[in-house]
Amino acid sequence: MGRIVIAGAGYGGVMAGKKFENSHTPFVMINKHSYHQFITWLHEAAGGRNHVDDYKVELTDIFTRHGTMIVKDEVTGIDRQENKLLTIRGSYPYDYALIALGSAPEFFGIPGLSEYSMQLRSLETARQIRTRIEREFARFKDHKEKSKLRIVVGGAGLTGIEFVGELLEWLPKLCAKLDISSSSFEVITIEATDSILPALMPSLQKTARDILEQKGAKIMTSTKIERVEEGRVYLGSGEVIEAGTIVWTGGVRANTVLSQAGLTCDRRGRAQVNDYLQSIDDERLFIIGDCASLIQSGKPLPPTAQMATQMGQLAAKNILALLTNESMQKFHPKMLGTLASLGSGQGVGTFGRFKTSGTTAGLAKDLTKVKYLYQLGGLRMVTHIRKPLLKQTAWQV
Ligand SMILES: Cc1cc2nc3c(=O)[nH]c(=O)nc-3n(C[C@H](O)[C@H](O)[C@H](O)COP(=O)(O)OP(=O)(O)OC[C@H]3O[C@@H](n4cnc5c(N)ncnc54)[C@H](O)[C@@H]3O)c2cc1C
Repeated sequence: MGRIVIAGAGYGGVMAGKKFENSHTPFVMINKHSYHQFITWLHEAAGGRNHVDDYKVELTDIFTRHGTMIVKDEVTGIDRQENKLLTIRGSYPYDYALIALGSAPEFFGIPGLSEYSMQLRSLETARQIRTRIEREFARFKDHKEKSKLRIVVGGAGLTGIEFVGELLEWLPKLCAKLDISSSSFEVITIEATDSILPALMPSLQKTARDILEQKGAKIMTSTKIERVEEGRVYLGSGEVIEAGTIVWTGGVRANTVLSQAGLTCDRRGRAQVNDYLQSIDDERLFIIGDCASLIQSGKPLPPTAQMATQMGQLAAKNILALLTNESMQKFHPKMLGTLASLGSGQGVGTFGRFKTSGTTAGLAKDLTKVKYLYQLGGLRMVTHIRKPLLKQTAWQV
């Protein structure tokens, strides 16, 4: 039996691990934390919906079979001569390694953006954003500076828009709790391109925009952020916006481990893979999710959880095929649709071939939650371990 090491227990890594466990194949999984975090629902955690710690599940609750070794450590490099993954605490030899280390924010060289904005990337950052907003609102009674109740969200992709939807639902409740007028806060989205939610068709983009603007959001498209300072966003137009909280959601780039290992990467640092999801430079490395650049129909596949989970399943299947001298399969993604939530129980998007919006889209989005939890750990995960996550869903509002 070959030695298999999975680097990263995100959407791609855990799906690969489930596949290995189901085929009784031992593997080592190295992850920064002892838990898997539900990154696609972090806007809920940052936007006050449930307790932040509800958005994670211990890896030992997902992987329960004998033969699985879970290591809490940080991957720092890949030694391709010796076939070893290097970590802070040691090294892990492999016959096949599956790299699923996700991504980091892309700041596009905008001065001050990385220093003075917060990013929604992990449980920790979600907690920091939420704490920051709660603190700014709690202090308002003393200083009465309205700009501190202004939240600027840079980027109007899925992450930014879902976060804005969540804020518009949470902030009126926070104001009521702190006895502040709910007309005092402001949520502003700033987007460089001329539309929001680029993954959706124009009619759905318009629906989402209308819903959010009706709820009070200010959405500025075709507007570039030039520079950021503490509490200040400078726009290309010359306008300066003061804000108590600045959150950047405008782009991602892959983990730097890939380029440092000398792999061929695209301009966002994603390693190029073949149709079997192997690095084009090294057939012992399978690279998936936000770390992988796979060109199909002339474009790289989008960095989404949907792609990462499907890639994780296929990469594991292909490694198993190599170990048993069978043929590998090519990656043919199933585009299941894109759903954006706009607060609890509301959304917009596509589900299969169908367009949907309002509570139906919210319900569809919540069903994807149930489906994912079920994939991770069956009914036990849905009804017991992560049940709190199903509070405030479409069927409860
Ligand atoms: C707020 C938000 C909402 C989103 N909504 C959606 C959505 O609705 N639908 C959708 O399809 N996509 C969505 N996405 C995108 C989606 O989350 C990513 O595309 C997906 O997480 C990528 O999966 P992955 O397995 O490649 O990486 P990740 O899920 O990011 O997993 C990477 C793992 O590697 C670990 N790790 C990182 N570096 C190291 C290291 N050096 N050593 C060890 N471990 C390490 C991390 O802790 C993590 O566990 C959203 C993203 C955000 C931020």
